[in-house]
Amino acid sequence: MNSSPAQPPVGAPFSDLPLSPAMLATLAQLGYDEMTPIQAASLPVTLAGHDLIAQAKTGSGKTAAFALSLLNRLDARRFDVQAMVLCPTRELADQVTQEIRRLARAEENIKVLTLCGGAPMRPQVDSLIHGAHVVVGTPGRILDHIDRGSLELAGINTLVLDEADRMLDMGFFDDIAYVASRCPRDRQTLLFSATYPPGIDKLSQKFLRNPQEVKLEEKHDSSKIRQRFYEVENGERLQAVGRLLDHFRPASTLAFCNTKARCRDLVDLLRAQGFQALALHGELEQRERDQVLVQFSNRSCSVLVATDVAARGLDIAQLEAVINVDITPDPEVHVHRIGRTGRADQEGWAFSLVSMEEMGRVGNIEQHHGGEFEWHALAELRPASDERLLPPMVTLQMLGGRKEKIRPGDILGALTGEAGFTKEQIGKINVMEMSTYIAVDRAIGREAVKRLNDGKVKGKKVKVRMLTE
Ligand code: ADP
Ligand code: MG
Repeated sequence: MNSSPAQPPVGAPFSDLPLSPAMLATLAQLGYDEMTPIQAASLPVTLAGHDLIAQAKTGSGKTAAFALSLLNRLDARRFDVQAMVLCPTRELADQVTQEIRRLARAEENIKVLTLCGGAPMRPQVDSLIHGAHVVVGTPGRILDHIDRGSLELAGINTLVLDEADRMLDMGFFDDIAYVASRCPRDRQTLLFSATYPPGIDKLSQKFLRNPQEVKLEEKHDSSKIRQRFYEVENGERLQAVGRLLDHFRPASTLAFCNTKARCRDLVDLLRAQGFQALALHGELEQRERDQVLVQFSNRSCSVLVATDVAARGLDIAQLEAVINVDITPDPEVHVHRIGRTGRADQEGWAFSLVSMEEMGRVGNIEQHHGGEFEWHALAELRPASDERLLPPMVTLQMLGGRKEKIRPGDILGALTGEAGFTKEQIGKINVMEMSTYIAVDRAIGREAVKRLNDGKVKGKKVKVRMLTE
C-alpha cells in the first residue's frame, strides 16, 4: 500500500486540479474558494484514477472529494449508471445526493438518483428505467435492485464506499461484498471513513486495488474546545445535564449517551424540566428522524440526545456544547465527539460526566490526549438566569415540498415580501419531499404562521403550522 504525504499545502485552489472550466465556475459559485485538506490530499490521487482510502473527521469535505472525481469521469451522453455511492443511512445518502447535484449543476443533464430502503420500490424502478448516471444508496436497497434486475452495473467505473466505518458498524459487510462483486472489475474504488477501525483493512484488501492512503490526523484546535470533567454519582448523572445547561446556557448542545435507553431517559427528564430536547435513535421513523434533524440544525431545539451510531456523519455547523453523558470506552470516539464543537471560528464547550467506574476510561482518554484534564465540581453549577433556556428559533412546517417544486427562495420571498419580515428574522429553510420546514426567529413564530396562512407562496394558498413550541 502506498502512502501519500500526510499534510497537503493548506489553502490550495481548485484550479490546481485538472477540472473543467465549468466545474471550476460551479465551485466558485458555491463559495468553495479553496480545497479543504482532505480534498487537497485526495483529489490529485482520485483524478489520476487510483483507488483511495481516505480518513478524515466529519465535516471535512469528504463528499466533494469523491463527487468531483466521479463527476469528472462521467459521460453525460451515455445513459447508464456510471458511478455508485454506498452510504449507511438514507439521510447521509440524501446529503450526498444533494451535494453531487449541486456540484453537477453546470452540466445540464446529469441524473443523480437516491436508492434507499423505507421508500417504495416502484418509483425507484421507474426512475432507473428513465436512466440515471449516478446512484447513491444504502447497501440493502441497492442489493434489492441488483437482484430484481432493475439496476444495471456493467457501466460503473466508480464505486464509492462512504462512511465505511459506520456501514461496518451497522453490519453491512456482506451486502457491500455482494454489491462490489457485481460491479465491473475494471473500476475505481474509493473508500471514505471518519475513523479507522480494523474492519476497514479487511474491506479495502477485498475491494480496492493498490489503493493510496490519505489520513488526516484528527487534530482539533484545542484552544477552541474547552473541556471540563465533572465527577458524578450514577444517580445524579442525568440531573447534572440540566444543571450544565442552566449554568452555561448553550444555544445548541449535542448530548452523547452510550445506550438508547439512556437517551430516552435523558430526553424525558430534560423535557420535564422544560428544555427543548429531542432524541435521535434508530427506532424513529424516517419522517420523525428528518424532523428531529431539521429542528436541531436550524436551531429550534436546544439539545439533541444521541448515541454515537445515530450521530455519526451528521453535518451540524454550529454547536456551542457537547456533553458526554456517559464516557465512551474508545478514546478516538471521545475525540470525535468533542470535535463536533469549536468549529470554524467559534469556541465550544465539551463537558464530561464521570462516575467512579469510568475513571479508567478517562485515564485512557487523557493519555491519548496528552496533557491534564480540568476537573470541576457539580456544586459550582448555578443557574445563570431565572429564564428558561429556549432555542433562538422555532420551526414552521408547511405542506408541500420538492414534489410541488417549492424552493427556499419562494418561502423567503413570501416572508420578506408581502408578509413584511426581514431577512434576518428568517433562518434555515429545508425543502423536503412532501413538506418544507422554515426556521424563524422565536419572537415572530406565531405571526409568521398567521401571515403565511393568510398569504400566498408562488401564487398559491398554503397550510402552515408551528412544529416546535
Ligand atoms: P464530511 O463528509 O467530511 O463529513 P461534507 O462533505 O459533508 O463533510 O462537507 C461538510 C460541509 O463543508 C458541507 O456543508 C460542504 O458543503 C462544505 N464544503 C465542502 N468542501 C468545501 C470547500 N472546499 N469549501 C467550502 N465549503 C466546503
Ligand atoms: Mg460524509
